Amino acid sequence: MDPFSQITSHIKRAATYVTLSEGALNKILTPQHIHKETLVVETENGKKEFPAYRVQFNNARGPFKGGIRFHPKADESEVSALAAAMAIKCAVVDIPFGGAKGGVVIDPKEQTEETLERVSRAYVKAFQQYLGVDIDIPAPDVYTNPQIMAWMLDEYEAIIGQSSPGFITGKPLALGGSKGRDIATALGAMFIISEYVKVKGRNLEGLRIAIQGFGNAGGTVAKLLHARGCILVSASDSSGTISLAKGFDPLPLMELKAAGKSLSDFDEVDVERSGPNDVLFADCDVLIPAALDNAITDENVSKVKASIILELANNPTTPEAEVVLEERGVDVLPDVLVNAGGVIVSYFEWVQNREQFYWSETDVHSKLEAQLSSAFHNVHEHRGVGMTYREVAYRIALSRIAEAMQLRGRLH
Ligand code: NAD
Repeated sequence: MDPFSQITSHIKRAATYVTLSEGALNKILTPQHIHKETLVVETENGKKEFPAYRVQFNNARGPFKGGIRFHPKADESEVSALAAAMAIKCAVVDIPFGGAKGGVVIDPKEQTEETLERVSRAYVKAFQQYLGVDIDIPAPDVYTNPQIMAWMLDEYEAIIGQSSPGFITGKPLALGGSKGRDIATALGAMFIISEYVKVKGRNLEGLRIAIQGFGNAGGTVAKLLHARGCILVSASDSSGTISLAKGFDPLPLMELKAAGKSLSDFDEVDVERSGPNDVLFADCDVLIPAALDNAITDENVSKVKASIILELANNPTTPEAEVVLEERGVDVLPDVLVNAGGVIVSYFEWVQNREQFYWSETDVHSKLEAQLSSAFHNVHEHRGVGMTYREVAYRIALSRIAEAMQLRGRLH
């Protein structure tokens, strides 16, 4: 199933619980704008062309909002799916944004820093009439970072001839970024699992966790959960899986990754080594996919032993695999809640930029906890018999988007 069909299938499933005509549902499922341009950029090897997209899915609840990814496989279906997921995510955690996403078809690993800067500036030049602090607010995504946001901000402000820090989020602190943004996604995931175990009458302490993808999000969540007594029994990156029944200290693993090495370089007695996918089958309580989409599929789901899936990556469980997990009583805590910490702190950054008044890290994190904890409990309390967390999250988001569209008279 292509990525856009996958997300529309989640929305359609949720729509069975929301009173909507077929015509209204089709309006909601149709991206409002799909902008496509070709960026022509001078490189060390002459002029090169890079296809680029900005998909603006829905802005009924507020300005479009979503990151820009630089990836060789970015395409219209993937960018549209991610734009729709942003609309759902912003609605379920109740921040006043719609959903959008951008993409440039480029392999950033093969480019010099100069080319990446030119591509970033060219993106803003190509799409600037569709972007703006009250129109559509970009952010980093896969293979884009605060430096790229800084170039994009500079280009945008040069075009409009005025300061507009809220035009983009995920900026460096020196240009109006928010404190606490760097760990917001992982911290958000920790708040969700903390609230989940509370409602189940359990405790984080002693929970055995396995993490697929020991990058920014995966490594940080390992550190946060380890500090609260969880036991990291298995972790993977693209080089392979390492497992240790008594548990790893995540810090040396993070240091290894920060030094540009792989988990398979980790040298300690008793460590078991296996292929990159084996982490999915670890003997653990909580499996945290934090790397790729479509990691848990109908082909491998039968070997998954965890009783809780904490979806830190976007789209890591296919709909077919989720049905199997649901039948086995495994709770899947969905990406739209679990990894929403990043966009919530992006929203806080935008608010601070507009107020020109900056908050402490403690303030940012406690506001994040309040926002996510309230979103989790709202989803948990609305769960009917046999409904998954994802279905409820989508149902709440869809109702909010539909209500905003209805009030605006867009669903006639
Ligand atoms: P990252 O690039 O820092 O880390 C990804 C990790 O996955 C790397 O360690 C890489 O080695 C590993 N990996 C790649 N292929 C693998 C494979 N086949 N098996 C096991 N590991 C593999 O990225 P990140 O920022 O940590 O993001 C991870 C996921 O979380 C992505 O799906 C991203 O879309 C999602 N996400 C991240 C954020 C954020 O703020 N960082 C926000 C929302 C969603």
